[in-house]
Amino acid sequence: MTYDVHIIGGGLAGSEAAWQLAKRGLRVRLSEMRGTGERSPAHQTDALAELVCSNSFRSDDSDKNAVGLLHHEMRQCDSLVMAAAAKAQVPAGSALAVDRDVFSAEVEAALAALPTLEIVRERIDRLPEAGLTLVATGPLTAEALAQSIGAATGADSLAFFDAIAPIVYRDSIDMDVCWMAARWDKGGKDYINCPMNKEQYLAFHAGLLAGEKTEFKQWEANTPYFDGCMPIEVMASRGIETLRFGPMKPVGLDNPHSATPEFPNGRWPYAVVQLRQDNKLGTIWNMVGFQTKLKHAEQVRLFRTIPGLENAEFARLGGLHRNTFLNSPVLLDRQLRLKTAPHVRFAGQITGCEGYVESAAVGLLTGLMTAAEIAGRDWQAPPRTTAMGALLAHITGDAEAETYQPMNVNFGLFPPVGPEVKKKGRKEAYTARAKDDMRGFVAALG
Ligand SMILES: Cc1cc2nc3c(=O)[nH]c(=O)nc-3n(C[C@H](O)[C@H](O)[C@H](O)COP(=O)(O)OP(=O)(O)OC[C@H]3O[C@@H](n4cnc5c(N)ncnc54)[C@H](O)[C@@H]3O)c2cc1C
Repeated sequence: MTYDVHIIGGGLAGSEAAWQLAKRGLRVRLSEMRGTGERSPAHQTDALAELVCSNSFRSDDSDKNAVGLLHHEMRQCDSLVMAAAAKAQVPAGSALAVDRDVFSAEVEAALAALPTLEIVRERIDRLPEAGLTLVATGPLTAEALAQSIGAATGADSLAFFDAIAPIVYRDSIDMDVCWMAARWDKGGKDYINCPMNKEQYLAFHAGLLAGEKTEFKQWEANTPYFDGCMPIEVMASRGIETLRFGPMKPVGLDNPHSATPEFPNGRWPYAVVQLRQDNKLGTIWNMVGFQTKLKHAEQVRLFRTIPGLENAEFARLGGLHRNTFLNSPVLLDRQLRLKTAPHVRFAGQITGCEGYVESAAVGLLTGLMTAAEIAGRDWQAPPRTTAMGALLAHITGDAEAETYQPMNVNFGLFPPVGPEVKKKGRKEAYTARAKDDMRGFVAALG
């Protein structure tokens, strides 16, 4: 069969994109390497849309939770992943969890029933030079194809490991304790600085060493620590002063909260934790140099001992994994096309979104974009105020490219709601606005 679109990778994103295209009558070739004897180190089966770890799609609460809202929006766009999840659902309170075998079987059955979709078990080793192509090969993209992508994008633009520092919502940082400044007052006052005295630093250092860590998986064991990407606790283990000469260096940072008549600009604290703006909206800030393999609960507990972060709300917690992903804000246009080769689109986790639901949502969007392109229709992205729109905008240009790391959907990616909305009702305000704003997008899908 000749085809309109070639999709490489039959995971969450590739399966969802294939559904969106083939149900519109477009001819699709879906190439999946599993089934040929090949497997990524994490996949256990040859099933399409295999869930490689947890069986949960996280919260299903679309009134208070960003990922629940994403579920809602995907359902409105006739998502195959959401439909299969509904059929495979198992009890999990307010979360949407599934029987993973039933889920994959549902996805596969729905795709197999589409007459214009051909599922081919084959490994693709090179980016096709022509023809509409959708690359959805995920965080564990097979090596030869990854090299081909690296050659097309530039080696520095394709990462093989993430090094995720925690991200904090700006409005949960106590600015009566922290202050904005750059070291030696160079440039703008671009960083939020959290001061520590000696006692606080020593306790924090001890906490890093004692904290429970996540182990690398066997196939990740030789994860390299690149310069500047070493986990904070590994750095701490190298000596009591290592952090004070590294990411927690206080020099050149006068703390105005400690100003006295003798020192009107304040003094340098004993140590500093710095946060840098992570998106153009300025709603989320990352903890500079704090990539970590501490367990999530441990991160929340320990990082809330940092002065000024006592009530910190985290948009993302830290981690370090094997993970193939592009520097999408630089490389891709607003329709997820490679700027230097616009016949190639990327979908799923390889774009730098994080999670089953986000990967499937980006797959859904690429399916819709490609269908519009083939039909010669202008593409209208979902509004920025929706979960799909906010995630897409983040990946395709709104994130800080220099520090780009995988991101899950969260309200920090949304344009803030008005100051008149009290903190307690903010989540509901985000979701209500998104649901309103999504209507036009859904209606236009027909
Ligand atoms: C070990 C691990 C655990 C994770 N756990 C979770 C979790 O618990 N919850 C969560 O929400 N997210 C988790 N993730 C993150 C992520 O959401 C999932 O990896 C998700 O499956 C990504 O969807 P995807 O479609 O982008 O990639 P995938 O689902 O991985 O699909 C990519 C597909 O492409 C195929 N492929 C790769 N290279 C080629 C090639 N050259 N030719 C043809 N086919 C190819 C692969 O076989 C695979 O089927 C985890 C990731 C990893 C690596």
